[in-house]
Amino acid sequence: MTRPTGRSAIAEAARAVVKVGSSSLTSKGHLDPQRLDAVVDAIAARAALGRQVVLVSSGAIAAGLGPLGLRTRPRDLATQQAAASVGQLLLAERYAASFARYGLRVGQVLLTADDLHRRGHYTNANRTLQRLLSLGVIPIVNENDTVATHEIRFGDNDRLAALVAHLVEASALVLLTDVDGLYTGQPGRPGSEFIPEVASLESLVGVDVSRAGSHVGSGGMTSKVDAAAIATSEGIPVLLAAATRIGDALAGVGGTYFHPSGDRTASRLFWLRHATTPRGRLVLDAGAVAAIVQRRMSLLPAGVTAVSGEFWSGEPVDLVGPDGVAVARGLVGYDAADLPPLLGQRTSDLPAEYRRELVHRDDLVLL
Ligand code: GLU
Repeated sequence: MTRPTGRSAIAEAARAVVKVGSSSLTSKGHLDPQRLDAVVDAIAARAALGRQVVLVSSGAIAAGLGPLGLRTRPRDLATQQAAASVGQLLLAERYAASFARYGLRVGQVLLTADDLHRRGHYTNANRTLQRLLSLGVIPIVNENDTVATHEIRFGDNDRLAALVAHLVEASALVLLTDVDGLYTGQPGRPGSEFIPEVASLESLVGVDVSRAGSHVGSGGMTSKVDAAAIATSEGIPVLLAAATRIGDALAGVGGTYFHPSGDRTASRLFWLRHATTPRGRLVLDAGAVAAIVQRRMSLLPAGVTAVSGEFWSGEPVDLVGPDGVAVARGLVGYDAADLPPLLGQRTSDLPAEYRRELVHRDDLVLL
C-alpha cells in the first residue's frame, strides 16, 4: 500500500501526535475547561474512526495558578515548576473527565528530553506508549516539569512533541497554536504573508520566524519550526494550525503544511541526533572531516587534533571541523582521559589495545 502524501497524510494517518499548547487551553492565563473540551471533542471524533492519537498537552502551569492563588504566571522557574506540579493533576483529571464523555480512557505520560536520550528510558517510554495505544487508551504526554525545564523555557512542548512523534512512529504531527499558521513576519502586520506550505526548510531562509507568530506561548514560532524540522527530517509530515480550528486541522485543512523531507532513521541514531547533549568535542582535521562526511568512515585517532570535555567511553560527543563547526555527533569509544596521547597517531603505531576506532561509523550521525 502506498502512503498518502500531502495534506491527506494528515487526515489519514493511522497514528498521529497532536500537540496543544498552553495558550490554546487557557483564557486570561487560566485553564479554560471549554477550550479543553473542544480539543477533546475533535480527538474523540478521530478516535471514533479507529485512528490512534497521542496527545501532547501543556497547560499544567496554567492549571496550577488558580489553586495556588496566583493571578498571573510566575516569573521564576521554581514557582512555575510548583504550579506545574499542582496543575498537572488537575489537567489530567480534566482530560480524564472530558474524554470519559466519549467512553475513552486516558493515560498520563510525563517525559523529559533527557529520558529520550537515555537508551533504556527511550525503550521503556516506547513500550509504555505502544501498550497504551494497543489497549485503546489515549496517552497524554507532558514534560515532567519537576525535573526538566526545557519546554517551560523554550518550547511549550513543541520539541517534545516532535521527539514523541518519532518515538511512537507516528505518521503525522499536528502542532496546534493560537495563530492559524506560519507567516513571513508578525501576523497582522502589513506585508506579512501567510505561508500555506513549506516544501523544504531551506525555503524559509529570510523568514524571521522569531517574530512570526504567537506571543502567548513560551515557544513562539521558532520552537514550532524547530519541531517541524525534527519531524519532517524523519519523514513525518507536520501541520501547524490554530487550535480553534482543530477539526479542520485533523482533516489536513488550513494551517501551514510542512512536507516530509527525510526518511526515518533508526531510533538510536535519532536520539543521538536530536535528544542527546554532547559531553565533549573532538576537533578533526580537514581530511578526517572529509572521511566522515563524504566517505562515511569511522573516526580514527590520526584525524583528531584536540579534545575537550569530560566523558566516558560510550557517551555522546560532537565532532567539529578545524573551523569549530560541528559536523557529526557520535558515541565515543574511549574515556576523555585516555585520548590525549593517542591524538594524531596512526592506528598501526598504537599499542594493540588502542587499535580501534575512536567513533565507529555505526555510532555516528551527520549534523
Ligand atoms: N509543561 C509545561 C506546562 O504544561 C510547559 C508549558 C508552559 O511553559 O506553559 O504547563
